[in-house]
Amino acid sequence: MSGKSSITHGMTGTTEYNNYRTAKRRDAKKTYDAGFSFAMRREMNVMFPNCVVCGGSEHMAIDHILPLSHGHGLSLSNAIRLCASCNGKKKDKYLYQLPKDILDKILSASGEFSDVLETQPS
Ligand SMILES: [Zn+2]
Repeated sequence: MSGKSSITHGMTGTTEYNNYRTAKRRDAKKTYDAGFSFAMRREMNVMFPNCVVCGGSEHMAIDHILPLSHGHGLSLSNAIRLCASCNGKKKDKYLYQLPKDILDKILSASGEFSDVLETQPS
């Protein structure tokens, strides 16, 4: 994870703040993403070979649909794959804060994924 961040407030850019932010995100991942297994990650990679927003395939990452920073961990219904560029646009935004074109693509992709999951044994 080395996405460039451009959050605007007074603390941005200080080493102290960056360390804090990194540690906070790491803790959040440990807490909230714990149920997301390697098998689930692999499943995501198969389901979404390309970025669900732009269709690109550069620097792909699994992204939280609802943001981790608000306590939403990765799960099969809260994960999509985005390229670094689209991930940078989405960042920690809630869905209603996203431009409609991006929102529609994320929702239709995640809906497809949920439907597929319901047909699988748990
Ligand atoms: Zn993209």
